[in-house]
Amino acid sequence: MHIFKKASDIKQFIHNLKAAGHSLGFVPTMGALHEGHLQLIRRAMSENDEVIVSIFVNPTQFDEASDFSHYPRSTAADILLLESIRCPILFLPGEEEIYPDEALRRRKFDFGYLEKTMEGAHRPGHFQGVAQVVSRLLDIIPADRLYLGQKDYQQVKIIHRLVHDILNLPLEIVVCPTAREVDGLAISSRNVRLSKEERQAATALYKTLDWARKAGSRMTPEALKNQAVEMLMQVPEIREIAYFEIVNADTLSPVSSWVDSSRIIACLAVRIGEVRLIDNMFLKGIH
Ligand code: AMP
Repeated sequence: MHIFKKASDIKQFIHNLKAAGHSLGFVPTMGALHEGHLQLIRRAMSENDEVIVSIFVNPTQFDEASDFSHYPRSTAADILLLESIRCPILFLPGEEEIYPDEALRRRKFDFGYLEKTMEGAHRPGHFQGVAQVVSRLLDIIPADRLYLGQKDYQQVKIIHRLVHDILNLPLEIVVCPTAREVDGLAISSRNVRLSKEERQAATALYKTLDWARKAGSRMTPEALKNQAVEMLMQVPEIREIAYFEIVNADTLSPVSSWVDSSRIIACLAVRIGEVRLIDNMFLKGIH
């Protein structure tokens, strides 16, 4: 596997790949790689001549300093995992390569309502940070296809707006389904921070979403939301339900009726112990 740490070196390498007519897939990550990431990378490898995975824990997207300092980092194990699936290229930059000057770290973007709701409302500045790092990474890595996970659904919408409406890049965005543990819990780098009891309690997220999908149109979205919140409140390990929203999957605005949109998704965020977990599920239509 080629490992690049400097933006200038990987830019030169990509220049040569493009000159040779190779298509390029890109999978940005924050490391602590797991099966969810690997599914994105395998898909990218099957659809492109070359694939770059980046690992960079982006400080500007963390709204809580303790979340940033506790974010799991396991670069040596990540490299072994990437080599085991024959990932061709890893970009492993330091902060000075991503934000060589303050202006890049402070760049501001207008996402309108997309960043005012759910994660955006609960994590001030989070999506500005996501956009800062993604815009910089795409500047260094002008890929043909960008691979993102449905697990971070609101992030997908934000990056879509960034790429197609703000930066106007000729880049295809490929959204991959959420990889789950056998009991349904969405795989996340943060899951390793759950105690045994908390890990067990975390299955309530998938159970509640799956119940909501099945119960669906038997009741109004509002009644469904209220019952889902009740179900989550029964779990003592869940310290906080940040939100459970049933929204139009394109605009992210809450729906009041099942005919409001052809694509409706339920999104939730809870805190279990010290760990914040998010998940989502389509209730109507598919991605
Ligand atoms: P992260 O390292 O958490 O920033 O995630 C990097 C990429 O992997 C993002 O596009 C995530 O949405 C995606 N991802 C993380 N967990 C999963 C999962 N369980 N299933 C599918 N994609 C995932």
